[in-house]
Formats: sequence, C-alpha cells, structure tokens
Amino acid sequence: MKTPSKSPLLKLVAVLAVFAMVAAACGGTTPDTEATDAPDLASDFGVSYLYITHDLAVARYMCDRIAVMYLGKIVEVGETETLLANAQHPYTRALLAAVPVPDPSHQKVEPDIKGGISKAINPPDVCRFLDRCPIATSYCESNPHPPLEDTGDGAWVASHVVAGRA
Ligand code: SF4
Repeated sequence: MKTPSKSPLLKLVAVLAVFAMVAAACGGTTPDTEATDAPDLASDFGVSYLYITHDLAVARYMCDRIAVMYLGKIVEVGETETLLANAQHPYTRALLAAVPVPDPSHQKVEPDIKGGISKAINPPDVCRFLDRCPIATSYCESNPHPPLEDTGDGAWVASHVVAGRA
C-alpha cells in the first residue's frame, strides 16, 4: 500500500496549492520571474497542470503554453512567449491590450472590440466572436465557426480571416 506522501494525487494537490498562492501573490502585476517559476516547480514534482485565468500577465509566468478560449471555443493556442509576441486572433489581441501596465506614464490603448458578450446558451453557428470582431467580413457571417488551424511556430488559430479565407 502506498503511503500518502507518495500519492501522485497528493503531489498534484500540493503543487496546485502552491500555484494558487503564487497566483494570488501575482494579482495582475508583472511578478519577478524567480519568485514565480511555476513551470520549474511542476517539472520538479513531475506533474502537468491546467491553470485557468483571465489575466495573460499572470499566465505568462505560470504556463509554458496558452490556450485562449472565447465562449467555450478555443480560438488560439501556442507557446507562451510566441503567442504573446505574435497574437493572431482578435480576441487574444484584445486580451493583451487589456493587461494593466504598472507605469503611470503609459498611454493605454483600448481593446479594439465592440458590443457585448454573446449569450452562452444556444450560441450561433457562426464564429462566436463575430459580434465583437473588428476584422469580421461577410464570409464570417455566412460560414460556421472556424476550426483551429496550424499557422506555424506551434501556433493554432481559429479565424477565417487569419486563415486567409475571408
Ligand atoms: S472568423 Fe471572422 S469574426 Fe471570427 S475572429 Fe476571425 S475574422 Fe473575426
């Protein structure tokens, strides 16, 4: 019989507890990397983890890869630094524009999206970001929600315009 201290589940719980404390400490700022080296902590424990947040600034320090979801659909996936340096989906770009910058002289650029969040119940068959998208075309209005497609460098994006179809 395994002792409780060797249980993979307990290891995972321990790691997640540490991550929760780190995330709470980070709170929306850009933390010191040495203080929040969560990926190394995960490899030390030999576990993988899924960290869910609305804050890309925190996700940057917590995750090797990021998947951006909008209304239940993943719209962009990639290696963290690649995705943040070259966001392709308009929702990912809006999230990045919304990240607080701890600099009083910084000129904030408002996210380039419009409208409100669509209803999650019975969403339309078309792209779920259509009502808010600044680059939507008529093609987006008459075709199903786009699939995730490989755009290179380990990145996957779900957008008719990014894919060059619209
Ligand atoms: S598929 Fe069209 S509406 Fe959806 S994100 Fe891409 S450009 Fe915007």
